[in-house]
Amino acid sequence: MSFPTSCMDDYDNEAISITDALRRIENDLTPLTDSVQVAIRNALGRVLAQDVCSSLNVPAFPHSAMDGYALRHCDATTRLQVVGTAFAGKPCTQVIQAGECVRIFTGAMLPKGADTVVMQEYVQTDGECIQLTAPYTQGQHIVNIGEDVSVGQMILSAGKRLLPVDLGLLASLGITEVAVKRRLRVAYFSTGDELCALGQVPQAGQIYDSNRYSLAGLLSRLEMEGIDMGIIPDHPIAVENAFLQASQACDAIITSGGVSVGDADFVTTVLRKIGQIHFWKIAMKPGRPLTFGKIQQAMFFGLPGNPVSMMSTFYQFVQPALRYMQGQQKVPVLRFQVPCLSPLKKLQGRVEFQRGILVPNEQGELSVRSTGKQGSSLLSSVSQANCFIVLPVECSKVAIGDKVWVEPFEGLI
Ligand code: AMP
Ligand code: MG
Repeated sequence: MSFPTSCMDDYDNEAISITDALRRIENDLTPLTDSVQVAIRNALGRVLAQDVCSSLNVPAFPHSAMDGYALRHCDATTRLQVVGTAFAGKPCTQVIQAGECVRIFTGAMLPKGADTVVMQEYVQTDGECIQLTAPYTQGQHIVNIGEDVSVGQMILSAGKRLLPVDLGLLASLGITEVAVKRRLRVAYFSTGDELCALGQVPQAGQIYDSNRYSLAGLLSRLEMEGIDMGIIPDHPIAVENAFLQASQACDAIITSGGVSVGDADFVTTVLRKIGQIHFWKIAMKPGRPLTFGKIQQAMFFGLPGNPVSMMSTFYQFVQPALRYMQGQQKVPVLRFQVPCLSPLKKLQGRVEFQRGILVPNEQGELSVRSTGKQGSSLLSSVSQANCFIVLPVECSKVAIGDKVWVEPFEGLI
């Protein structure tokens, strides 16, 4: 009698690489095109559906970057008469003549005739006159017309996920609304007879369903519309009904649990019956089994049930896939090397995403230490961590002081 390969096996030459899986997933995805118009105040985290070009110069007029005195650089004298004051929002209309200057404050429009600002720290006042006490260069401390943004310049391109600063940038151009992609609708549910919903009392052998809560948070960080479809028991008809219902209302479906080869794992069998399916073992830990497919128009991601595996497969595969479907431009993965403060064990033949804590020393140099035990069910290890320690396929162990690759969670996890 032969047994199907269990996901607990350490090495498997059928397993595919992460890059291979990512490529196969992306080949099957289509970015959505529908867009909606939103006020910029509501646009944070949304994906731009249009290029934004400026119809203004920013700044629209030359202004002072300092508190001081505006003067003509060609005046060779060091003693000048103060003929007016320019405040931010209250320009001085005086045209500066030879031997004259204007008291000026940060943000004030540069008076006509002036081409240079001298900081007040380098000036001695003497009644209505000033004495310049230090050398200065022409054009200093002036922000010129269009120095930030010029008319016609493209400042944000379609596919950009809007950051807080982008809202400010749009506001600086007087733009009140932008077209963004509609939110991707993502239905998710947990599978497993052992799962108990919050608010219920767990029976013997039951555990609380945590994955739906992690998923809700992960989707909301991506500014996507999560549709919580609850817990589905390990029963083929219940799983089939849930899949069909979800596929009618959403762009993507995420399930957790039930994708390995246990007798009660119906996700793959049902998907095979009603949709298209790829089932892969990925050469990574945690999170080896991954089901990817389609039910009607909805893309399907079947993640492992173990909470840490669920998080790491979401991070590696689902998150980039959903961003792509949402129409977001590709963002480079932030990964760099730092010394490791903990000895680490690992098996060759797969990439491991161990949980780590990046910490600076007194000189501000970063190093990483392990969160400790790395079991795929130990959700607290993810909660303590602020990065993955990414150990490549060929690595078999890490000694204290060895350099390792880290991937900060970047506020996603
Ligand atoms: P499975 O992928 O269904 O074989 O589940 C693997 C492990 O993850 C089992 O120990 C499950 O009890 C656990 N698990 C599955 N789904 C969840 C969930 N939603 N929340 C917490 N643990 C889960
Ligand atoms: Mg299960």
